[in-house]
Amino acid sequence: MKVLDLQCRLGHSFEGWFGSQADYDVQRARGLVTCPVCNDSEVTKMLSAPRLNLGHAAAVASASGQGAAGALAADGPAGPGAAPAGSVPSAPAAGAADARQQMQAALVSMVRHVLAHTEDVGPQFAEEARKIHYGESQARHIRGQATREETEALLDEGIEVLALPVPDNLKGPLQ
Ligand SMILES: [Zn+2]
Repeated sequence: MKVLDLQCRLGHSFEGWFGSQADYDVQRARGLVTCPVCNDSEVTKMLSAPRLNLGHAAAVASASGQGAAGALAADGPAGPGAAPAGSVPSAPAAGAADARQQMQAALVSMVRHVLAHTEDVGPQFAEEARKIHYGESQARHIRGQATREETEALLDEGIEVLALPVPDNLKGPLQ
């Protein structure tokens, strides 16, 4: 069974259920696929929503990978497992799976880079970031854990902090 998002020339959106993609092609060619609102038989297939959502999420992930300068905080809750809002987990298209893999790969390489070029100060993160900012500690890139309150306080003081979701498979050996 194939469910397609369809739209007529007047912009009415509706779902069409077909045995296969070929069934849709045949029925549409015969003018049997019609809009339930205006009976228009000139319908077009829409891109599926999950694919559109994933494309957007991938763009956001790669953009946040740019300019990762200053202090870095590894913040637990916002992990990469969080699905993009509105995605449908039951029927992912092949293209959507590819996009998700590319996004995951980009995130992993970004996190590896950050882990390799920062010093882990653990729970002392907020204190150390503050010392560096006020010149009491040697200037360098650090990472560690910070609560949401600590992170907000640092940002209020003008100290650059970036929350970094660390995939579970990178947490152990590298830190
Ligand atoms: Zn219509």
